[in-house]
Amino acid sequence: MAPSISKMDLSNMRARSLMFHDVVENGDYQSSGFPGEGAHLYKLERAPFERHLAAIAAAAPSVATLPALAPNSVLLTFDDGGASFHHPIAPLLEQHGWRGHFFITTDRIGTPGFLTEAQILDLHRRGHVVGSHSCSHPTRMSALSRPELDREWRQSLARLSAILGEPVTVASVPGGFYSSQVGQSAQAAGIRALFTSEPTARISSLAGCLVLGRYSLQRGMGPEWSAGFAAGRPAQCLRQAALWKAKRIAKTLGGTAYLKLRTALLDRNSP
Ligand SMILES: [Zn+2]
Repeated sequence: MAPSISKMDLSNMRARSLMFHDVVENGDYQSSGFPGEGAHLYKLERAPFERHLAAIAAAAPSVATLPALAPNSVLLTFDDGGASFHHPIAPLLEQHGWRGHFFITTDRIGTPGFLTEAQILDLHRRGHVVGSHSCSHPTRMSALSRPELDREWRQSLARLSAILGEPVTVASVPGGFYSSQVGQSAQAAGIRALFTSEPTARISSLAGCLVLGRYSLQRGMGPEWSAGFAAGRPAQCLRQAALWKAKRIAKTLGGTAYLKLRTALLDRNSP
């Protein structure tokens, strides 16, 4: 299915992609994905995740998987490769008749809290899209040299392709540290669809590699957020975009300025 991605007509094409990470049960945040409070902020409990899915079902015209994009498709993506992709995430998506995009940190395959090779193959056989999230999940992907980037993409794709028995051509950028060099390396490694963390529905193309933004869901965000992202509502989409832009500007100004901006944006729109 992958080769047709690069042949799609991108004129006016938009996709609203949602970025999730792990979904944990009984408050066990250690059970899936990377440890540490920084990572745990991106993990959802099962009940809130189910409320997000119900909200998406009510708000979205359709939930799709690559390469079958229709105008304004909603895509569900999951980063890091935690064990929760196999259970409970995949069965919960399947209850809605949906499939997800699951991005795997390949150095972690088979280690505690992460998917095994057999589970990755099972997800693929059930119709989910499996992609790379690099080998090592570098802290700042965009700070790597080109040879280091090439190794991260090529070796992770090779590992996943060997597990699935067919070429893997989709990926997501760890930590959202996208740069043009990160994209060029991905394209050269054979990636045909690359998800970033820029909150936008626009799709761009880099020499045949689609670059897609994503709206991020974190712990504590209610279902109005997932519904808003899925429906393309400005209250949620523009607010996250404003925060993301403020973050980028503030990174050049210094950390304190970013925190002030973030507080201001969050306070202004708090329910
Ligand atoms: Zn990640």
